Amino acid sequence: MAETLFNKVWNAHRVRTLASGQTQLFIGLHLVHEVTSPQAFDMLRQQGLPVAFPERTVATIDHIVPTSSQKRPFLDMMAEEMTVALERNCRDFGIRLYLPDSDEQGIVHVIGPQLGLTQPGLTIACGDSHTSTHGAFGAIAMGIGTSQVRDVLASQCLAVEPLKVRRIDVNGQLRPGVFAKDVILTIIRRLGVQGGVGYAYEYGGSTLDRMTMDERMTICNMSIEGGARAGYVNPDDTTFAYLKGRKFAPSGAAWDKAVAWWRSIASDRDASYDDRVTLDAASIEPTVTWGINPGQAIGVTESIPADADAEALAYMGFTAKAPIRGTKIDVAFIGSCTNGRLSDIEEAARIVRGHKVSSHVKALMVPGSRAVAREAEKRGLHQVFIDAGFEWRGAGCSMCLAMNPDKLEGRQVCASSSNRNFKGRQGSPTGRTLLMSPAMVAAAAIAGEVVDVRTMLEAVPA
Ligand code: SF4
Repeated sequence: MAETLFNKVWNAHRVRTLASGQTQLFIGLHLVHEVTSPQAFDMLRQQGLPVAFPERTVATIDHIVPTSSQKRPFLDMMAEEMTVALERNCRDFGIRLYLPDSDEQGIVHVIGPQLGLTQPGLTIACGDSHTSTHGAFGAIAMGIGTSQVRDVLASQCLAVEPLKVRRIDVNGQLRPGVFAKDVILTIIRRLGVQGGVGYAYEYGGSTLDRMTMDERMTICNMSIEGGARAGYVNPDDTTFAYLKGRKFAPSGAAWDKAVAWWRSIASDRDASYDDRVTLDAASIEPTVTWGINPGQAIGVTESIPADADAEALAYMGFTAKAPIRGTKIDVAFIGSCTNGRLSDIEEAARIVRGHKVSSHVKALMVPGSRAVAREAEKRGLHQVFIDAGFEWRGAGCSMCLAMNPDKLEGRQVCASSSNRNFKGRQGSPTGRTLLMSPAMVAAAAIAGEVVDVRTMLEAVPA
């Protein structure tokens, strides 16, 4: 019978169906970071349990790591204490850890793929909502809470509700100046922030087929913002080319065997879905959020809806029917697990090169990992940002969640390439976030206000 990738991978990892109706699912890869793991490790100690599969568990430090100086001990005492705690936990339980002084450290959802740990057909869990990123490789990847982190550490299993599958096809050619971030913001705008509850999203269509792995990761990363528990793309030659030669990817005969298995788990052509949605890529324009959730988004040439949510308008200090273009910004942030990869830095650099950041804007460029930073520096991209007046920072989550010194102050407005514009998300209880693509953030940094990046692209040689 024709099946979706979701069903094939789910069934291959099903241990049993629990009395609750949930599935006890074996987890192929457990990614751990410093924020959601300390209590989980404490619970293990209290119960005298080991980590069931330390070789399937990998840890990094990302949320709290300062990005201005990453010298140990960190000046931020809480960050230092949390780092020491994770070091101790990983040492005691035999888990591989990528510390800030390691060449491979970075945001958990950036380093997993980069190291080749993230592979098609895996089930992946991590104590962070944006674990859905890894679905770009054809994995079923889910964010979990601290008590589930404990469960996976202790048993390598998770009790989860089976999901329905919605196929989302995006077809056609994206127009210049329109990126994967605009696609996913448009999907969430159309289906709503609760539209994906109970679903896994399978993304496909000719636009997705042409996308790079970086772009597919941006799309899958924000599945959770549309309410979906997971989001994925079927593995194809683009996936395999990305993985080949990576540190933890199979090699030799094991590679050929793996590719054959990975091809076999892609959704069958005639698989049936619980729902289907289609979007025309050419109809998508650079997209900006105006409100307090990622679904409150509009094209940059549009105005805030006449029936805009009153709470969002009051928080943002915006008016219904007003244009988003021309909104003055105070901070520009390029980074995060959504858009902190090399291709994001390259796209932003195309806009920034030869320009200066507006005098009233503080601009941060924060690579998603040390490897991304190294590669960008090798290409001289860091100098493009520094010359323009950006601060070129060390790898980490930075201002995405602001659990580190990178925070908005007061009512500041931030043009951000991250994934959440919730109230207070970027460190100030009254701070305001406008989500957009890295190129749009770069354009806003230079103009000092929200602009249509396409007007600047006309001046940039291809
Ligand atoms: S960049 Fe943001 S969303 Fe991604 S892992 Fe860090 S805090 Fe979470």
